[in-house]
This record gives sequence, C-alpha cells and structure tokens, in this order.
Amino acid sequence: MIGKPSEKEEEYFKRQELAKLRKARVEAAVRLAEEEKKRLKELHWMRCPKCGLELQEVEYRGVMVDTCFGCGGTFFDRGEVEKVIEADERGLLVRLGSFLFSGEAKPD
Ligand SMILES: [Zn+2]
Repeated sequence: MIGKPSEKEEEYFKRQELAKLRKARVEAAVRLAEEEKKRLKELHWMRCPKCGLELQEVEYRGVMVDTCFGCGGTFFDRGEVEKVIEADERGLLVRLGSFLFSGEAKPD
C-alpha cells in the first residue's frame, strides 16, 4: 500500500532538486566563461594592448617578437624576454672576451 511520503522523504527530494539546479547553474557559468574567453581571444589576437592596431612579428636579436607600428610598442610572448636576455649576455661575454684577449686591458 502506497502511503503519503514522510517529511524526511520530501526533504530528501527537495535537496536533490536543489543540488541539480545548483550544478546546472555552475555548468552554465563555466560554459559562459569559456565562450567569453574564446570571444575575447578572437577579438584581441595579435592586437596591440596599448592602441589596438594590428601587431606584426619582427625579429629582434634572433627572437620573433610582436611589434606595433602604430605606437612603437614591442611585446614578448612567454619565454621570449629570457631568450633576448640570454642573447645579450652571450653578446656581452663575446665583447668582454675579445676586449680581454685583445691586450687593451694590459697596462703600458
Ligand atoms: Zn600600439
């Protein structure tokens, strides 16, 4: 015989419904955030963060960097600054080495 559901059963089903609703809201928020991230990337890809003009890739000390011909800004991707610094340090060591071995450092 089927009787009236107890208050505990009703409470259980209400909690289940609330949990489903909460999960659906979180999933919708995550989906919206991903769509917004994609939209922003398409909108800003290879655009200058300062003036909004298109960026051009140019070689700078052996590294391809993004340059804006509108405002003159140069922008580095992850790891590019380290490559330029490394190239600079190598250049400095070469210049220092040629200076030391040229005899210019010897006193008269
Ligand atoms: Zn710019």
